[in-house]
Amino acid sequence: MTIWRLSIAAALVIAAPLTARTVVVNANGYTLDNAGKLARFGTLVVGDDGRVEATLAKGVAAPAGTVVDAKGATVLPGLIDAHGHIMELGFRALSVDLTDTKSLAEALTQIKAYATANPTARWIVGGGWNQEIWKLGRFPTAAELDAAVGDRPVWLNRVDGHAGWTNSAGLRAAGVTAATADPAGGRIERGAGGAPSGVFVDGAQQLVDKHLPQPTPAEAAAALTKALAIMASVGLTGAADMGIDPGTWTLYRAFEANHRLTARITAMAGGIDALHAIAPNGPVGWSGDEFLSLPGVKLYDDGALGSRGAWLKADYSDAPGNRGLQFHSDAELHGWIDEATRHGFQVATHAIGDAANAQVLDAYARVPAATRQILRLRIEHAQIVDPADLPRFASLGVIASMQPTHATSDKNMAENRLGAARLAGAYAWKTLIDSGARFAGGSDFPVESPNPFYGLYSAVTRQDHEGNPPGGWRPAEKLTPVQALAAFTTGAAYAAHAETRVGTLTPGKWADFIIVDHDLFVGDPATIWRTKVSQTWVGGKRVF
Ligand SMILES: [Zn+2]
Repeated sequence: MTIWRLSIAAALVIAAPLTARTVVVNANGYTLDNAGKLARFGTLVVGDDGRVEATLAKGVAAPAGTVVDAKGATVLPGLIDAHGHIMELGFRALSVDLTDTKSLAEALTQIKAYATANPTARWIVGGGWNQEIWKLGRFPTAAELDAAVGDRPVWLNRVDGHAGWTNSAGLRAAGVTAATADPAGGRIERGAGGAPSGVFVDGAQQLVDKHLPQPTPAEAAAALTKALAIMASVGLTGAADMGIDPGTWTLYRAFEANHRLTARITAMAGGIDALHAIAPNGPVGWSGDEFLSLPGVKLYDDGALGSRGAWLKADYSDAPGNRGLQFHSDAELHGWIDEATRHGFQVATHAIGDAANAQVLDAYARVPAATRQILRLRIEHAQIVDPADLPRFASLGVIASMQPTHATSDKNMAENRLGAARLAGAYAWKTLIDSGARFAGGSDFPVESPNPFYGLYSAVTRQDHEGNPPGGWRPAEKLTPVQALAAFTTGAAYAAHAETRVGTLTPGKWADFIIVDHDLFVGDPATIWRTKVSQTWVGGKRVF
């Protein structure tokens, strides 16, 4: 008996490694501490439970464990995107991308190669084309596309999303002929005898769009796998998914159960109907290894600035008489917010124009203060806010969930749309932080790149990648590197109800961390966006 027990013990000793601890040494390590101050470390100790055991100053002896030598590189907490669209990121990455094509011929070659490489795709879909860059002087045609792909329908969106291009198989699948009338708000490009020539403008895109097949479960799984790989490669260890459908929730659950999630997803149901379908019993909290939660619902309160869909208090400066689109009456918005918050759901509402932001703040103000504090209501984008409304984020405890790259992408367009006077409350993240508002950083990927270093760069410099404008756009709104890091770590974690779990490398939290080639705090700010991630770890496991 004694011998038997000894042999079991010996077998256990042999089977298990000496210690499952991971020790990251020679780190130029940074994290915020629990008070939000920047703290440095030279060694990160990760317990066998995947959580941070300790951070040690340079020179302090490290405990035994599996050593990862950072070789002096910068180690940061894993970055969290407070606003992205994960499935769209994956689907877009797996589709045809014509963004960099310089001619129609080059585009056709790329489309043909994609179709050959994807023989089982029922439709060939993608986008990014621009006939201006191709110097075509006209739209491309279905006949031209037929030369690249004749056996299956093709559907390719123009770079701005305002037109789509299909081939003859696509025209047949959509049932569009010379007899088809232009729908309201749209135009079918036509050739001889009124026959559709292959391009559909604005509202007419729906004629083809509605015939696109729903992705199969295998295609959806491939898209999620791709999105997770992209996120890991740019140092994202978590993201809030801003508006999912029930099918996506089922897919996320399956990936969670099979330990295939490599980033922590805070999913928000896309609208009240999806919320009812996904979470009939209330919010779904973090459980198990804490890779998935569903705290609430995403609502839309207006459109976007570029297409003048953002709802403004006064006319667009470049379109007199137009104030954009009000999506909902007060009563409708109040009804949804009341219903969601009464059942314990967090609400995140898209509001870009100053009128939309005011309407959402008014609606949130009706929620009892104690409930607001528990649920952490959010405004997504908060791009143009009446300066009079800016302090209400702090006073109501509403999280400003903003995307710094939007400001540097939109700056010229925003000046045209708004005029100088209204810019005081536009992309005003520093003013919001100084007023005491909670701030969460994101990208809105795939609208913008998912690379969080682009967001950190925009937040700190207010410049595009060419360094324009010199000194930064409305430079008073620049953040310090510490504030920017907080937006993409503790700020995004707080917005996800996850600040006790992730966001800093402090003992007890998950060991979600990245190793990168640039020091955000001493390096040249102009090169932040070039930062390369060499390793990404989630829950103490390397995922990139
Ligand atoms: Zn979005």
